[in-house]
Amino acid sequence: MITIHEALDSVLAGIEPLGGEEVRLLDALGRASAQRIVSPEQVPTFANSAMDGFAVAGAELEAGRRQFSVVVDIPAGRYVSDEIGPGEAARIMTGAPVPAGTDTVVQVEHTTVDDDVVTIDSAPATGANVRRAGEDVTAGDVLFERGALLGAAEVGLLAAVGVEGVRVARRPRVAILATGSELVAGGQPLQPGQIRNSNSFTAYGQVVAAGGDPILLGIARDDPDETRRLMAAALQNDVVITSGGVSVGDYDFVKQVQDELGVERRFWGVATKPGKPLAFGTRGSTLVFGVPGNPVAAMVSFEMYVRPAVLALQGRPDVYRPWFLARSDEPVHRTKGRTEARRCRITHDPDGSIRFTTTGPQGSGILSSMAGAQGLFFVPPQYAGGDAGTEMLVMLLAGSGTERPPFPVPPR
Ligand code: AMP
Ligand code: MG
Repeated sequence: MITIHEALDSVLAGIEPLGGEEVRLLDALGRASAQRIVSPEQVPTFANSAMDGFAVAGAELEAGRRQFSVVVDIPAGRYVSDEIGPGEAARIMTGAPVPAGTDTVVQVEHTTVDDDVVTIDSAPATGANVRRAGEDVTAGDVLFERGALLGAAEVGLLAAVGVEGVRVARRPRVAILATGSELVAGGQPLQPGQIRNSNSFTAYGQVVAAGGDPILLGIARDDPDETRRLMAAALQNDVVITSGGVSVGDYDFVKQVQDELGVERRFWGVATKPGKPLAFGTRGSTLVFGVPGNPVAAMVSFEMYVRPAVLALQGRPDVYRPWFLARSDEPVHRTKGRTEARRCRITHDPDGSIRFTTTGPQGSGILSSMAGAQGLFFVPPQYAGGDAGTEMLVMLLAGSGTERPPFPVPPR
């Protein structure tokens, strides 16, 4: 068995980002940019007022002048080309262009107005309350590198500089195949001994959340021919996830069928709980994951290895999750030879420091304790158990980051 880090290195080694496609700006939301984006425009485009008030020459305030005659009104959207002369002020609104001859805005709260004369009650420094042209973005600035996730702020920034379309990374096509003769598709009645297929649904959700394009291939019974037929179809995609049938049981055919179809095995078995019998290989550029059948093991395996791969295929540098060290609200149970990932919720002490609490029973089939989990915490192998307050690595199940969590691994 290999460690989490070895498994991650093996999965991420040699992944080449897929190509890109051109989309309209709003359709780029949640996608990764397929190229570096350079700003075509500056923001703000022109010097403008940050306040409602009066635009004057700062030098006149410095020289002690406190009364100005108001010669023009400048609401947002209006451009005044006339220069403001000595002793003059422009009444100006937030966002309106600061007229020639002025460089400072006195906010209205600091003035007294009598007819067309404004008295400055409190003079600001020269340049105050004026947003400089280009102070946010300069034309030619690199806004985003290739692989950057385009969220609301990023799409907004692109709109602000006049970008209307973006080349984004193609969504990786991820084939999802459930294996198991006991599985029943949704809508079918359960016969004795049968269970419902949930792994296809959790994988679908995880693929979508990672920016992939899920392709559901249904259920393969524990039969080599049927598994081979469906696996062959699955291999036409960028990524294949099969669940179940990858352990050492008499009816576990996934590895055999992968071998028959020319999938090169990179590893089988990671020293983690849940998720030990994970098989990973490649065929050409297709990444082939055989995740264990137990619903939590399948989800955790996806989270740990498939998600980073799906993000890397989009050129994302932030293939990991955000993580931190936090203290347990409860005693931490012992482990044996494997690193254990346990699901938890994040809580806080009255002083604001971060705690975590398990979401309930941690069996690898207990999907209800995965529901509502905000994170996974990692207990080192051979851990003897600890009291409440013990510090552990917590990996969030939301967001992303470029730093790999320092997963605990077995001592060499
Ligand atoms: P396996 O890895 O095939 O030995 O399956 C391990 C456990 O996971 C068994 O109890 C299976 O019934 C269950 N299981 C396998 N596939 C699924 C699935 N698609 N949905 C829900 N449970 C499953
Ligand atoms: Mg099975």
